[in-house]
Amino acid sequence: MTIDRGPGSNVTFDPLATALAVDDPAISELLDFDTGEFLDARAWIGGQRYEELIAERVNVRERLAKNPRFRCSLCSVLSYLVSNQHKRFFFRHMTEDGSCPAETRSPLSREEILARKYDGIGESEPHKRIKRMIVRSLEADPSYSGILAERQWRSSQDPRSRRQPDVQATGPSGRIAFEVQLSTTFLDVVAGRRSFYREEGALLAWVMGGFDPEYRRLTTDDLLFSNNSNILVVDDETASISELQRKFHVRCHFRRPVRDGDQLVDRWEASVVPFGSLACELDMQRCWHFDYEGQAAAIRAAIEQELHKREAAATDKVRNDLFSFWVTRLPHTQLDEEGVRAWASLRQAFFAREIALPALPDDSSSFVALMNGLASAREGRPVGWSFQHLVQVAHRIADGYPEHVAAFGHAIRHFARQKTIETQDHTGKWKRRAEGIGRSLRAGEPDFAPEPNSIDLAGFLIPGLKEKLAALVLKIAL
Ligand SMILES: [Zn+2]
Repeated sequence: MTIDRGPGSNVTFDPLATALAVDDPAISELLDFDTGEFLDARAWIGGQRYEELIAERVNVRERLAKNPRFRCSLCSVLSYLVSNQHKRFFFRHMTEDGSCPAETRSPLSREEILARKYDGIGESEPHKRIKRMIVRSLEADPSYSGILAERQWRSSQDPRSRRQPDVQATGPSGRIAFEVQLSTTFLDVVAGRRSFYREEGALLAWVMGGFDPEYRRLTTDDLLFSNNSNILVVDDETASISELQRKFHVRCHFRRPVRDGDQLVDRWEASVVPFGSLACELDMQRCWHFDYEGQAAAIRAAIEQELHKREAAATDKVRNDLFSFWVTRLPHTQLDEEGVRAWASLRQAFFAREIALPALPDDSSSFVALMNGLASAREGRPVGWSFQHLVQVAHRIADGYPEHVAAFGHAIRHFARQKTIETQDHTGKWKRRAEGIGRSLRAGEPDFAPEPNSIDLAGFLIPGLKEKLAALVLKIAL
């Protein structure tokens, strides 16, 4: 709770309330030397209770002389916490000579800001500690030589181009540059270095001092996802293992993809492995222990395939349900209660596939004829009409429902009933008629044009038919 005692007066703060930062601080970001991380000044202030921050302010002040905690991220000058008359907090440079771009609020390019930040990190204690552990681990392993810390690496192609990796060494697989990553290295920096070492035919390995999958920053994710979801860590334990076994070990944190129903979920795992056992890809500048991408792709493909299968099975079922209903129903008879329910559920299933069935089966004679024709073709005998032979169904459709002749003809081929009709067509009448229909359709005449509204249903019931009927409609329309 804030009690404002009027304009211009001092402000009393509830000690348990959240501390407030000034709205537009000159120093917006700090380098915390305790962790090697950058902090957003306002977020850090606002993340504490007023009473805590007051105590912290004293602490920060005290440490300035011997073991300073905060530096301005842009100029690396020591910084400390102060508050204004409204009890709002901000950071101030220990020396303000106008050289900090934050103070003068001069616009810096992103590259300049990054370069300054990166220079700042180079000083931090965690950075130095991790670097020492990498060196320690490498020196323990006789298969690595030329182990150097903070030494220039000149481009073999262009002597003017050079980098200064934290640690470099030559191992069984060639030259390696190790860079300590403090979750504050920006993607631009990562990308720029990768291309340098790629051109050198060397590997750039990013190493962290620790990694908590639950608490990652975007900058860590840049590394994580560009390294096949593997993060390499060198810590006290791995350094001891390296020394004990005289083999350079790293802790590798990685995501393991796991299938959970139709979803892919990740589980974080970690294992300590010899650096030499990592898969190294110079072209991608990656080195990883667990092939996340490969495994995830395999799981995704399996899920995809199963979904496909399930969808196909569901489609088959809906298709068969309608045919079964049609084959067993009594034409021109009012549906009983069960029939009404069955039809309603069929309509719903087709509606879900954007196909409209009539309210009742006998509502439309054209629909009845289409269903009779397709079901007859499927069964190889007349369905819905009291005929003896399939060929009679063919003639009935050609006579009364020319708009379904094409669909029926394709259904006959789909269910391989040509022989049945041929045998029943003693006089050859259907053969001649079918030839005529074929000529008419090929000529684009409208006599046997498929009924456009029936195409979706016919196409659903007979796989592959939709495209054929649609092509016919198009041809006739032209
Ligand atoms: Zn500054």
